[in-house]
Amino acid sequence: MYSDFKSHLQTELSDIQEAGLYKNERIIVSPQGALIRVGDGKEVLNFCANNYLGLSNNSELINAAKNALDTHGYGVSSVRFICGTQDLHKQLEASIARFFGTEDTILYAACFDANGGVFEPLLNEQDAIISDALNHASIIDGVRLCKAQRYRYANADMADLEKQLIAAQAQRHRLIVTDGVFSMDGNVAPLDKIYELANKYNAMVMVDESHSAGVVGNTGRGVTERYNLRGEIEIITGTLGKAFGGAIGGFTTGKKEIIELLRQRSRPYLFSNSIPPMVAAAGIRMFAMMDETNELQDKLHKNTAYFVEKMKAAGFDIKPTESAICAVMLYDAKLSQEMAARLLNEGIYVIGFYYPVVPKDQARIRVQISAAHNPEQLDKCITAFSKVGRELGVIK
Ligand SMILES: *Cc1c(COP(=O)(O)O)cnc(C)c1O
Repeated sequence: MYSDFKSHLQTELSDIQEAGLYKNERIIVSPQGALIRVGDGKEVLNFCANNYLGLSNNSELINAAKNALDTHGYGVSSVRFICGTQDLHKQLEASIARFFGTEDTILYAACFDANGGVFEPLLNEQDAIISDALNHASIIDGVRLCKAQRYRYANADMADLEKQLIAAQAQRHRLIVTDGVFSMDGNVAPLDKIYELANKYNAMVMVDESHSAGVVGNTGRGVTERYNLRGEIEIITGTLGKAFGGAIGGFTTGKKEIIELLRQRSRPYLFSNSIPPMVAAAGIRMFAMMDETNELQDKLHKNTAYFVEKMKAAGFDIKPTESAICAVMLYDAKLSQEMAARLLNEGIYVIGFYYPVVPKDQARIRVQISAAHNPEQLDKCITAFSKVGRELGVIK
């Protein structure tokens, strides 16, 4: 029965290989951090993790997780509404709402689930979803599961958004959806202008803060802080898998009636397991740390500004960024791969991206800065980029 399908798969796989799009996974044998050990025992500086605040291997979070194993066990073996809600889950939801200045929060196993389960319960064919063209795959999939009319606007293009809003006036409710930070360029969604247009054309707004929470805004509260819109945005989604410790978990936070209805109707919430108590407990500790100090956010902002300034001074073409994502533009796909390979030989782990992940002729190396990087590590990265950049004729 399998043989026809097997040869079909083999063709698909070799097509991926031939297109140069086959994803190989590098084995890491240490915890996540600024310095990691890879499978062959080599130590490299990591500049491609979403470990923005350097919390992935934080001892306070590890201890909170260990304690919860003793007090609350390993797993809950239930969805939330049957017997899977511990005090820890409720406390974490309250912590997230406090962090974002929102009314209530609902947890998911991942932000992929939060985005997958947010549209379908709230909107139907009478409504409209107006989505940025560069939104995350999970938003695209979530929109597909919903019967609302779909509109798309070019990335962060406010003239196009206005055009789509005008086109969507016939529908009952309108929801504009955007990533907070777009992961390939590091640009922040112009939420001030989006909010203005939403008011003008009677629409609601949803922001996915996955790459912006903990990073953007003076105290790292995300794009709503950056634009003075705390408490104004109807729906925020986000992940615990990036800046917030990097383990697992996602959430939707916002207006309380929205969250209440999601608890009744959102399928990834109703039909998927509760997050483990150790993850909830570490999350509670993490948000308590955010309440106590902005040290990590300050360090991240300082590190990012330093890196961008030095790289520009070295002659590199860096996309304007307001996040911890620095796109070093190379424009040539082959060059991006060659440069990343040579940087790895210099002990710097970064990834080169090219079409179709980014537009044609927009190949680049994406560098992700962390509060975990120390000045020597940043300098080592800049020196390696400069050396390899000169060797490959990228800079003089
Ligand atoms: C990473 C990411 C997600 C997925 O988050 P998980 O919790 O890992 O599922 C969703 N949206 C955006 C914008 C992301 O960057």
